[in-house]
Amino acid sequence: MNMGDVFIRNAQCFGDHPAVRFEGRTTTHRELFGRIRQVLSALEKRGLKRQDRIAVLSRNCVEYLEIYGAAAVGGLIGVGINYRLSLPEQTVILQDADPAVVFFEDCYADRVEALRASLDPSVIYVCISGPDGATLGHAKASRKGPDMSGTGISQPDTSPSETVWSETSWFMTYPALLAAGADESTTLRARDDDTFLLIYTSGTTGLPKGVMLGSAGQLEQTRSQAISHLASQTDRMLIVMPFYHIGGPTELFTYLITGSTIVLHRTFDAVQILDSIAAERLTVAHLAPTMIQMLLDALTLHTCDLSSLHTIVYASAPMSVALSRRARAAFGPIFMQIYGMTEVGLGSVLQKHQHVLDGPADQVKRLASAGQPYFDTDMRIVRDDFTECDVGEVGDIWVRSPALMQGYWRRPDATAAAFHDGFLKTGDMGYWDDDHFLFIVDRRKDMIVSGGENIYSREVEEALLMHPAVAEAAVIGVPDAQWGESVMAVVVLRPGAELTFDDAVTHCRLLIASYKKPKILQIVETMPRVASTNKIDKKTLREPYWRDQNRQIA
Ligand code: ATP
Ligand code: MG
Repeated sequence: MNMGDVFIRNAQCFGDHPAVRFEGRTTTHRELFGRIRQVLSALEKRGLKRQDRIAVLSRNCVEYLEIYGAAAVGGLIGVGINYRLSLPEQTVILQDADPAVVFFEDCYADRVEALRASLDPSVIYVCISGPDGATLGHAKASRKGPDMSGTGISQPDTSPSETVWSETSWFMTYPALLAAGADESTTLRARDDDTFLLIYTSGTTGLPKGVMLGSAGQLEQTRSQAISHLASQTDRMLIVMPFYHIGGPTELFTYLITGSTIVLHRTFDAVQILDSIAAERLTVAHLAPTMIQMLLDALTLHTCDLSSLHTIVYASAPMSVALSRRARAAFGPIFMQIYGMTEVGLGSVLQKHQHVLDGPADQVKRLASAGQPYFDTDMRIVRDDFTECDVGEVGDIWVRSPALMQGYWRRPDATAAAFHDGFLKTGDMGYWDDDHFLFIVDRRKDMIVSGGENIYSREVEEALLMHPAVAEAAVIGVPDAQWGESVMAVVVLRPGAELTFDDAVTHCRLLIASYKKPKILQIVETMPRVASTNKIDKKTLREPYWRDQNRQIA
């Protein structure tokens, strides 16, 4: 079995059941499979073969799901392109992925036209929101600016391309593609060991790497998540996380395999999301911590019925203690945290707030943990000599599961370096507590070694964030002739607040050991962010200090 079989089986078993609700339209499982066959039939007539890449540059929409579905069923490789990246960044990724087809949303027409110059002349371009008819009218009417936040949050001040366009020779429209495949005849069929998705990592620690996720592996991943999340056919799942990252598609498939209905949003708008939860009686939502924060802010002005929700999944970062308390007060203890990464096909570790809160009072500190491994995930924390750490001892987190990536696309050296004895070396560091709850302390690349002591940047950041003047904090190591590295804190202050170096140090000394306290404080207006995810870009912060040192900054 592989991911493609899910779409076939769903059409057979849940044919008339709604698969997706998107901008007022409903698509049943049977209709979804029909569209997938039309796409495959048209692409095969255009000469596509198994394992050819089909890239998508679009915000979330039902057509995006149809295209990923076509990849799953037909053994093509779906490549989601992050629309927030610059032209040169997208060029590098598209040249690397080497697609046969590029699907794009109409508002990116200008960008795709610019990208074409660097791509193979044989590439077929398909505009998802075509100029002929209702789809485009609908898209233009409902459209805000493209998401520039990396989390699907739209920013109205960045308006999309104003191109008034007509069909030209360089692209065809999606409706025209479907028409070409109207007979639904296709011989394209996935094999279990096919690559299904090529998802590029966030690029937090270096250039984004193309992660090859296998079709059978992704089915395993969604199966273990569906069981752990208790997903069922009666669920109605909110998806607003972008499809170009692992979180969007994998959470979607986790619920789709059980026959749940997916309620898809093009971008994040807090009030629209709250209204959608109430109107659609949504039971599950997958959100980033920043989105949860924005929903809480919107709830202070906008009341709505949230009683249908039984689970909110969040991933990619923990919620701060303050946010997590506020969130539980508003939504109840319905939160579920996932720790994972692109290379494992989304999650490795899961923590349900309710489980922790139902336990003994002294376990509440476990809310700060990432949770316990999924039932089919083997996780080790190891020392530098690869022996396993004791409980409470910090080491490198390694993971092995049926869903691990097949490798990095066209990067055999990076693939070889990422694995050891079948385990993926995550690049993260952490420790177990007595009951095998995982606590993540830092990325290895962010750890500071000063005078032979390991200092975890996240621990110092958490201490700084407890100061009432501090809105954002990033801690990096900078060269120090005597100690090797020393701790530098970069902070953004709350509006009107002030912070002196002495204040910061006195505050930190109350919370963390003296050798971990910042030696340098820099106050900045804004933090540099990684374009794709909004994570703080420590590479850029470190760069000026390490430029002249003969050392890696990433
Ligand atoms: P790159 O690999 O290109 O440097 P990236 O690691 O940020 O970028 P992703 O695969 O999107 O790319 O992110 C995975 C990383 O996010 C993990 O390795 C971990 O550092 C962090 N992460 C994910 N979930 C959590 C969590 N629940 N708590 C803390 N950190 C998390
Ligand atoms: Mg990574």
